Amino acid sequence: MKKISLLGATGSIGTQTVDVIASNPESFSLEALSMGRNLEKGLEIINKLSPKLVCVQKKEDAEKLQHDIPAQTKVVYGDTGLIEVATFPDAEVLVNAVIGSVGLAPTLAAIETGKTIALANKETLVTAGHIVMEAASKHNVRILPVDSEHSAIFQCLNGENEKEISRLILTGSGGSFRDRKRSELKNVTIEDALNHPNWSMGAKITIDSATMMNKGLEVIEAHWFFDMPYEKIDVVLHKESIIHSMVEFIDGSVMAHLGNPDMRIPIQYALSFPERLEIKGSKPLNLWEVGKLHFSQVDYERYRCLALAFQAGKEGGTMPTVLNAANEVAVNHFLKGNIEFLAIEELVERSLDEHEAVQNASLEQIVEVDAQTREFVQSLITQRW
Ligand code: NDP
Ligand code: MG
Repeated sequence: MKKISLLGATGSIGTQTVDVIASNPESFSLEALSMGRNLEKGLEIINKLSPKLVCVQKKEDAEKLQHDIPAQTKVVYGDTGLIEVATFPDAEVLVNAVIGSVGLAPTLAAIETGKTIALANKETLVTAGHIVMEAASKHNVRILPVDSEHSAIFQCLNGENEKEISRLILTGSGGSFRDRKRSELKNVTIEDALNHPNWSMGAKITIDSATMMNKGLEVIEAHWFFDMPYEKIDVVLHKESIIHSMVEFIDGSVMAHLGNPDMRIPIQYALSFPERLEIKGSKPLNLWEVGKLHFSQVDYERYRCLALAFQAGKEGGTMPTVLNAANEVAVNHFLKGNIEFLAIEELVERSLDEHEAVQNASLEQIVEVDAQTREFVQSLITQRW
């Protein structure tokens, strides 16, 4: 029985993780969870899986929730509450499925207490990859990928000698606007952007998929996960999202991981690793039903955010921190209807241009750069919009 704590239980990855845990009561139990402000969904999960500790974002929500649940479930709140859930002594695995760089501090805290990390929260590795990976190695902690691309690569690598790898090839669907030209992106709406062709996900990552910043964050995530230089990471457009990623070896062999686009598969694998469990309620992948698989090269002019992510990754230091923070603020404003779609990449680019990279930054420096970038983007938006 694996005992799990889960950050971001009410989100898209969070609810699918709850599904996986609930479908395998003989293998997994949920000990602690966090939510943001969706108390209704949170209550449903608490009633279903009876965790011992729950964290909400706001103090007033904590008081409200404690009334509605059994007294043996303790309710905490805010950033310190997130840390309490992440380090809950009874749990051995932390699934981090919060959105944004708010996931960094709890990940580090869980690593320090020796928990295995199942990481969905890619912003954590993008913001402070060197610190997270160093901490994991110091505390002898395993970080397992939840993101489908990284889970695919992890499985294709299967303990292969890293000297024999020539390239990691991440696949990307191209997001909701893949059939539109750049000139047709000017006045796209939030609803259009949220309409992803293959995956049903949270709002922020769906916008990141439309700009392909999501693939950019994943390239940086892959760099840290697999200790791979950016020159050996490539992206290919693959509109069916059936191949989740590939590894090319020096002899020209390419290993690919295929599966239906269903996040429960990589979530469950991160939880059951090194074993595999049957997945309940999922239909098999019948390639004759898919028919054709398509691939094409990325146009880096069209997907400017992906080019910026490669650039930030290669420059290194605090550049990816800036990329991520600027993107988080810009996407948030786009989702509120405050700025247009193409302003996202412009704001990210302006932020990178303004920033002088700090190499080997400390956690304090990262936190400061993250905050300064958010302020900078906010000020640009206030000036212009
Ligand atoms: P969602 O927006 O659906 O869920 C985010 C979760 O985090 C919710 O539980 C939300 O609470 C909580 N939350 C949001 N802000 C805060 C905050 N400031 N403090 C505490 N909790 C907060 O996101 P997704 O599930 O889509 O994505 C989660 C992570 O997984 C992201 O990093 C994403 O890139 C990654 N990922 C997602 C995939 C997907 O298919 N969705 C695929 C691969 C990776 P509430 O809703 O209660 O307010
Ligand atoms: Mg992904």
